Amino acid sequence: MARGDGPLLAPSRVLRASAPDAPVIAHVPHAGTRIAADARATILLDDIALTREQLVMTDWHTDRLFDWVTRRGATAIVFEPSRLVLDPERFLDPAAEPMERVGQGVVYTHTHDGRPLRRPDGALRARWIETLYRPHHALLAQLVTERLDRFDRCLVLDCHSFGSHPLPSEADQAPDRPDVCVGTDDWHTPPTLADALETALRGEGFRVRRDSPFAGALVPLDRYRTDPRVTAVMLEVRRGLYCDETTGTLRPDWPDVAAAIERACVAAGLPFTMAANTPPMTGGPSAAIEPGTANIPPMASDSPSGEVPPILDR
Ligand SMILES: [Zn+2]
Repeated sequence: MARGDGPLLAPSRVLRASAPDAPVIAHVPHAGTRIAADARATILLDDIALTREQLVMTDWHTDRLFDWVTRRGATAIVFEPSRLVLDPERFLDPAAEPMERVGQGVVYTHTHDGRPLRRPDGALRARWIETLYRPHHALLAQLVTERLDRFDRCLVLDCHSFGSHPLPSEADQAPDRPDVCVGTDDWHTPPTLADALETALRGEGFRVRRDSPFAGALVPLDRYRTDPRVTAVMLEVRRGLYCDETTGTLRPDWPDVAAAIERACVAAGLPFTMAANTPPMTGGPSAAIEPGTANIPPMASDSPSGEVPPILDR
């Protein structure tokens, strides 16, 4: 485990494009599992309970599920600390952040099932906002600004996953969850983009819903509802499709899911470029997912899974 979340430790990893730059930034806020020693010391759970909390709260491997974006010219920014330390996809203003009501604002005080996670501590919260939240968002804003300067437009692709079963903390308790949720922002998501994505994802065999069970799409605060050149859309993938939700490990067939999402994003017209040596994504060994084959892995009945709604729009 890293020692301390001090200001000299960059909280975010940037994965640069391996193809000519495209006006796309992929944002991966919840794949991180790092809990530094000083952060661990604030958590009231024992190691077993903490492991279980991370199991249901982490958007496992979404950095890998979406790593194809760099081969198509996008730059990805991955927040590395666990969301149990700080959640970068939350409003800083408690009054504006709906998840504060269940103790899961920017710094969580409660677990997914309402148990105390850490004692409320204003000084700690303020310190982590300065050392983790602001540097991450400043870097995201910088990456978007670079694309705007070069392309006069930028799409933020917000990359998440969610559990196959609702968590007690989640607003949407409907048991029948889609395979992919397309999250939109009224101001920053062109309806044609969301429509095209839904159509293309369905063409790959996914069950798709818009803004359900989670709504919104992250936009850098300095562009939020002020800069129409910034578009945004969120993709939330049901974790049972690519991950064993009882362990957090990748399913052997996860590359097929990643490839199907990639094909859908390209078919929907997202503004990617492509490396010269990248094989075309049609045909080949990555067969499309057939409806009904993307089953939920067996789960222990006492093993809820999922995530807190990324009530985004920042
Ligand atoms: Zn998430």
